[in-house]
Amino acid sequence: MSAPSQRGIAASPSAYRWGAGQLVAAVTTGAPWTAERVTRDALAQAAALEPLGAYVSRDPARSLAIAAEVDAALQGGGPPLALAGVPVSIKDNIAEAGQPLSACSRMLAGYRSPFDATVTARLRDAGAVPVGRTNMDEFGMGSSTETGVFGPASNPWDPTRVAGGSSGGAAISVATGSAALALGTDTGGSVRLPAALCGVVGLKPSYGRVSRHGVVAYASSLEQVGLLARSVEDVALGLSVISGRCAMDATCADAPPFAVEEIAKRDAAPLRVGVPRQVLDALRGFGGHQGLTDDVRQRFEAGLIALQTAGVDLCEIALPDLEAAVPTYYVIATAEASTNLARYDGLRYGHRAARAPGDDLHAFAARSRSEGFGAEVKQRILLGNFVLSAGQQDAYYMRACRVRARLHRTFMAALAHCDAVALPTAPTTAWPRGAHLDDPLLLYAMDIFTVLANLTGAPALSIPLAQAPGQLPAGLQLLGAPFAEATLCALGQRLEAQRGPLPSPTTTEFGAAKR
Ligand code: GLN
Repeated sequence: MSAPSQRGIAASPSAYRWGAGQLVAAVTTGAPWTAERVTRDALAQAAALEPLGAYVSRDPARSLAIAAEVDAALQGGGPPLALAGVPVSIKDNIAEAGQPLSACSRMLAGYRSPFDATVTARLRDAGAVPVGRTNMDEFGMGSSTETGVFGPASNPWDPTRVAGGSSGGAAISVATGSAALALGTDTGGSVRLPAALCGVVGLKPSYGRVSRHGVVAYASSLEQVGLLARSVEDVALGLSVISGRCAMDATCADAPPFAVEEIAKRDAAPLRVGVPRQVLDALRGFGGHQGLTDDVRQRFEAGLIALQTAGVDLCEIALPDLEAAVPTYYVIATAEASTNLARYDGLRYGHRAARAPGDDLHAFAARSRSEGFGAEVKQRILLGNFVLSAGQQDAYYMRACRVRARLHRTFMAALAHCDAVALPTAPTTAWPRGAHLDDPLLLYAMDIFTVLANLTGAPALSIPLAQAPGQLPAGLQLLGAPFAEATLCALGQRLEAQRGPLPSPTTTEFGAAKR
């Protein structure tokens, strides 16, 4: 890897590294900044960095038309828009009316969504401008953005390495500035892991905080739409727009939208962060693999010292059974996936195989599914059907549900001693592309620190740690009690302030990135 530098990327469009708040202020004030101009810059940036594989579809004419509508609304003296002119990227499993929606699967190739997801409708109503749909692992099943039908994505810090996943495209889009805000989904870490590996902020909201209406279902009891941006302030702003009750999603809490003003209130009180050091020591060789690396551990400890310097109290907490989180997650996630993906049978939904003579309906559905799904998705459906089967249900699925309840109890017990729990986001920095594809268990082990938040419904925020020249990004994660996003953001902002600005990824090798 070559040392991160400001070269190359600095030559690209002017507003590409502005935060969402700055963009809104500039666009609302008007000339020379308009939503249209910002959108042009964002689109140029996306086009210049095409080889990274961040986007799987873009419709520049539509983006510019939306930007022109935003400008017209502002010039017409309409009400202020919370995200006026902010370029946003949308993960390819979140519906946008009239746009392709494939979850990067052959199963949904050619499908265009007839309606907007609640989250995309809310972004549009707030004046945000969608710049494209981002790359992901097929149906969100993966940690590296390598299994999608459109090909792999590359890490902007070193294109020979993975961007993390499954929302890898989303992370690249904000890390390289073609979007100021990105929508991802997080079922087991898919927002936080790529955020950490690409050096941006990633937020998985509390379960029920954000509507899942219009989001392609993978594991419904675990997943939430999440946000990626270059600062905590921007993910908080995004959350204030997309959160809140939704009549179309019965699992969405009957609660008002997140209010950014809450962050300052939490910041006024003393804050304490719990660190499960014993478990971190034990996880050095997790799953028979390398586990938590010394590099990430040291940078994580430095992040904790930064929090302390910023006036945060630290305390030791116990988080027993954390090593059970990955197996528990993969039993529950595959069980729910096998159920959710049963609808793709070639008749009602999804890729339809050519009908062969003598085919009965069963054979036809089996062929459609065999052709439509990729290898990792098939593996998960098989696993899910197995753990739910009559003979195995008690041994696997029911047992996993009991362990999930226990993890919930121990997590809540830890939170009795602190306002948030700190963990590394990922056990390593970005690994070489293709390296772990033939070893799914190794990829699953990358989720060791992220799945707890999904199993417990807790909010979790990943913040980039300090990054020295030559180092790859790494993240520190804060987990809180359900609906305590304001506390996490207050802590995250203290960490950011102490850490200072981050370097930008080098673009000098972008042209050489192979897809
Ligand atoms: N890596 C996890 C999985 O493959 C998480 C994915 C996600 O959050 N969508 O299931």
